[in-house]
Amino acid sequence: MRRKIVAGNWKMNTLPSEGLALAKDVIAKSAEVSSGVELVVIPPFTHLNEVTKLASGTRVAVGAQNCARWQSGAYTGEVSAAMLGAMGVEYVIIGHSERREYFGETNSQLYDKIQQALSSNLMPIFCCGEKLDEREANQHFQVVKQQVEESLFALDEQSIKQVVIAYEPVWAIGTGRTATTEQAQEMHAYIRNLIAGKYGSQIADSISILYGGSCKPSNAAEIFAKPDVDGGLIGGASLVAADFIAIAKSF
Ligand code: 13P
Repeated sequence: MRRKIVAGNWKMNTLPSEGLALAKDVIAKSAEVSSGVELVVIPPFTHLNEVTKLASGTRVAVGAQNCARWQSGAYTGEVSAAMLGAMGVEYVIIGHSERREYFGETNSQLYDKIQQALSSNLMPIFCCGEKLDEREANQHFQVVKQQVEESLFALDEQSIKQVVIAYEPVWAIGTGRTATTEQAQEMHAYIRNLIAGKYGSQIADSISILYGGSCKPSNAAEIFAKPDVDGGLIGGASLVAADFIAIAKSF
């Protein structure tokens, strides 16, 4: 059985006091969600110490939005995977399209970050997805294939099993324009098939693939109903606890 995961990527939103209140609200409402669904909140770095303390012993796990691609040293402004792990962080988003776009992160740098995450026992949530012009040019499969191959395929079997994949078509992020359920299913199945080709179907069947991009309470149920969609990576709607919980209840 694949894990079902609903994760809220808060991005660069909320001041620490607001973030704590949001996390408290999510924890308070988490009992409404089926116990088979894993809940993850992913606040900015500045909130992680407090939020991990708050979430400790609850069913809500905590993730970070990024980590350094080095272990430690003279990398001013960076936060290492080991630092995150030491705070009780369990997940880390790697390769969000906003990091690729605004910070120039490349597939091979993302491979390094995944290695760092795994060596600190963090579960990477590896993001992939095509831009609008790439979909319109019918290159979406090729783009995602390259992202997956270049960032994941040097991992050994033990490592790939720890990775969660998030398919986030860039044109659906923050735009209110969701992929159709067919588009989501088609790409999720494609990604799973890529993994099966490299690591075998048993491993491919065990990896959770989340959908991200304008997911909200009104469309989550039909997206999550698709056989290769194992949950969601939620942006905007994760900033309202009731909406985030409503999405998680859509399973
Ligand atoms: P939205 O849900 O705001 O479209 O963002 C999706 C996303 O980027 C999650 O990582």
